[in-house]
Amino acid sequence: MGFSERVCQICGVSFNVGRIRTKDEPTKAGWGGRLRGNSPVFDPECEADGCANEERMIPEFVCHDGSVSEAEQAIEHLAGPSCISTSGYSGHRITWKEMKDCTQVQCLKYKASDWEPEPGDEDFVLQSRDAFLTGISTGAPDEFEVHRLEPVRHGVRDTPMTNELLDDDSEDGMPMHAQCFQVFRELSIRKFGRTDIDSLIDLWAQQGSMENRFDDFQETLDLQLVVHQLHRHVPGTEYMVAHPHDVEGLNDLIDRCTINGAAHTDAVFENSDDKAHVADPFASLPPELRLMLLLQLERTDVTNLRLVSRSFQQLPQKYFHNLITTEMPRVWEIDNQEPGTINWHQLWCALSAADGGAGVDELVRAWVTDGEYLHVSAEL
Ligand SMILES: [Zn+2]
Ligand SMILES: [Zn+2]
Repeated sequence: MGFSERVCQICGVSFNVGRIRTKDEPTKAGWGGRLRGNSPVFDPECEADGCANEERMIPEFVCHDGSVSEAEQAIEHLAGPSCISTSGYSGHRITWKEMKDCTQVQCLKYKASDWEPEPGDEDFVLQSRDAFLTGISTGAPDEFEVHRLEPVRHGVRDTPMTNELLDDDSEDGMPMHAQCFQVFRELSIRKFGRTDIDSLIDLWAQQGSMENRFDDFQETLDLQLVVHQLHRHVPGTEYMVAHPHDVEGLNDLIDRCTINGAAHTDAVFENSDDKAHVADPFASLPPELRLMLLLQLERTDVTNLRLVSRSFQQLPQKYFHNLITTEMPRVWEIDNQEPGTINWHQLWCALSAADGGAGVDELVRAWVTDGEYLHVSAEL
């Protein structure tokens, strides 16, 4: 039987993800997956413009079993701007800070019958009937096991792990990215008012799947693209390994939309007189009712309405606040912003522009993976 990779039970993505640094980045910005040990990515097949394969000295390092590897010479692939390697994500397409923690593992485990609380247990662990949370690994896992979990919780420093629990008496843990667990936690609190790890570990025990996280769960096309015996770093899928909370540049982007001083107006867009002669039945409605109407409409309908009704030529900031919270509900960073402190229209434009990279990614995927991506699409 060949190598069988464990993936994050929540997002379905491997922990053994590599990065190909650019020639201008420090050596710590490039690393391989588990099977490459501490070595960088080597890809003799990628001959894209600007790529290179160069020798690099790999210093000694501490293995998970505590032994120390010897320093050795390795050949490293360096990414050019058009790198098409699928052995690591290109430094030209995702920063190493954005990939922070993507190789680290945290597990949910069943409490043993003699499980006792210990200092550092969070409330949701103490309140859980069945489950507790381990520490977080310092590096990528082996095939079936994760090592060097920190801090050591309830004596668990190393643990086997699986995506499909086959034996009720198993010591296996349910593997997750710690950041994916934080997303689960946030959603669980919003939906149920608490972090419900009992339901999560029960779902894993009953429907955990080696094929697709959980039986009968929807699987995205992108997971089919990247999940193979070894993770395929398909250009255009970098977002799958980007840190979901620590989004580089997001707080600066929000700060740039903060309102300073009294120059701010609630009305977005200019009001022209070119429809002054057109009878407008909405003109008699108070602003509050007009806003209620706007909130019921699709964006394209609002665009059309602005073309025919002078009453809707200008839109209130609240309309754009609502757009962001409904169409981008995961931008939790704005949750605590007071409505009058942000230019919501400006923020909507900035977030939409940042999100526009997804369309470019689609093009890159079709280009790089050629027939295979088209084949996956054709299965829909
Ligand atoms: Zn994950
Ligand atoms: Zn390359």
